Amino acid sequence: AETFLDDLFRQARERPHRLAIAARRVAESRTDTLDWAELARLTDRFALALLDLGVRRGDFVAVQLPNRWEMVPLIFATARIGAVICPISPVCPDEELRHRLGLTRARVFVTLPQWSGTGLAAIGVRLREELDTLDHVVVVDGPVPEGAHSFHERFTAPADEERRAGELDGLALGPDEPFVVLFTSGTTGESKGVLHSQNTVHSAVRGYADAFGLDGDWVAAVSTPLVHYSGFAQGVLAGALLGGTVAFQDERRNEALLDLVERYGATLLYGPPATLADVAASQREAKRDTSTLRHVVIGSAPVLAALADEVHAALGARTYSLWGMSENGPVTMTRPADPQDWAAHSNGRTVDAMEVRVDAEGVGDGGPVSGGVGRLRVRGASLALGYYRREEVFAAEFTADGWFDTGDLAREDGRGGIRIVGRARDAIVRDGHVAPMTELEAVIGSHPRAVEAAVVGLEPEGPGAPSPIVAVVVPRDGEGPALDEVRAHLRAAGHGERFLPDRVETLPALPKTLTGKVRKVELRERYAGRPA
Ligand code: ATP
Ligand code: MG
Repeated sequence: AETFLDDLFRQARERPHRLAIAARRVAESRTDTLDWAELARLTDRFALALLDLGVRRGDFVAVQLPNRWEMVPLIFATARIGAVICPISPVCPDEELRHRLGLTRARVFVTLPQWSGTGLAAIGVRLREELDTLDHVVVVDGPVPEGAHSFHERFTAPADEERRAGELDGLALGPDEPFVVLFTSGTTGESKGVLHSQNTVHSAVRGYADAFGLDGDWVAAVSTPLVHYSGFAQGVLAGALLGGTVAFQDERRNEALLDLVERYGATLLYGPPATLADVAASQREAKRDTSTLRHVVIGSAPVLAALADEVHAALGARTYSLWGMSENGPVTMTRPADPQDWAAHSNGRTVDAMEVRVDAEGVGDGGPVSGGVGRLRVRGASLALGYYRREEVFAAEFTADGWFDTGDLAREDGRGGIRIVGRARDAIVRDGHVAPMTELEAVIGSHPRAVEAAVVGLEPEGPGAPSPIVAVVVPRDGEGPALDEVRAHLRAAGHGERFLPDRVETLPALPKTLTGKVRKVELRERYAGRPA
């Protein structure tokens, strides 16, 4: 099987001077670029630096960075010496960082001096004292605290090129060995470290590229963090597979994505719904040249019909929806041959590497539900090796006949694809019907005095009683809509009585994960047992 290193070195031979990476640093208004030849050369240079720091086959290298160019050769360099990369977001809280470095027993930790006012390097140095598995802290750019190394000195200063051939030969990871630990968003609880091999990710990235018919002319503008599955795989690694260009920026400034699209002639723009809503809104004012765009891919969270249409109208490119998760990569997506309305009404068909099945049992209290809604189960080549050092939790998600339970609910869409309904543990089931959560939330959030809303079901107050439905509203300014107004608004939008909320609560902001998903567990805890 091909590995991503085979891909990388092939691109370096076949298209050495084609732009591989364009990394925009928003605050400094500067862009760092690498072509394929430079990326391959830096991969070897970084690999030697990791060897010099004592990293060996099977060791972990943790990297806490925003979307910066250094991340890309670090990913390939780690695999080049048979080690495992563990990417971490720069906004990861200290305690969680400590947990991850401890869990993976990372030997080397690469980070920035600081990010958004947090002294990342200083935290790293402190953790090195606490964790005896952590040998080195390496600091990219700027002041290097005592006890840490300068990235520039260790990784980018000229080194003895002669060493290369001999020392790196034969060290590279095999396609089935551990390659990366990617952390889930932690929407339903603690985030889990998902262990993938090159093969599991490679099959996912090939499926993604095939579904959209991507080739070497591909230029992607990626808005998601490179430390999560989508940016890591559908961004960086798809770049290596295809030999195209991947453009990204270090801050989440959604309107600035249009600069990337225009400047690099992006053919594909990828982002979650909230990001693309911002892009569409700024394009209506900015009127940038987006004529190169062929695919606008919306994923990571539910995609509403209205948003798909809005994005299509603003950017002039077709929109596609993508469903996936850290455990199995992008699995279902609408495809170029499909009509435009698919993004709005479907999550599309499965990629070649994966199969999906919708199982009726195990929804709500176990009774049958209408509309063909069931638990979404998957199997195939892109499925992860497991949760790192929590293998039993992963194993528990499998059915007796070998399917992995995604924890999401879905139904067949009648066109050979599936439609995601929501997460099983957030589902509200009444009289055998599953509440259309996403639609309810969209309608409530569209009330003139609301910014956004989330709907949760609480524990039933007694046996046989329905679970009370709470609408949590973020008011626009001043007072948000009252219960009867929320209910009237839903009725006016065509919603029946069954799922009208029993209670309305207001919050200044919804609790969200670093990837922007609402943490409903927290809302349920907050309002449980509190009388209306
Ligand atoms: P955790 O597993 O830690 O609770 P998480 O499931 O949010 O967090 P990720 O792996 O980042 O972690 O996200 C995968 C989940 O995101 C899916 O299980 C699904 O619920 C949701 N999701 C992804 N894409 C879509 C989509 N197109 N439509 C609806 N939901 C989506
Ligand atoms: Mg999950």
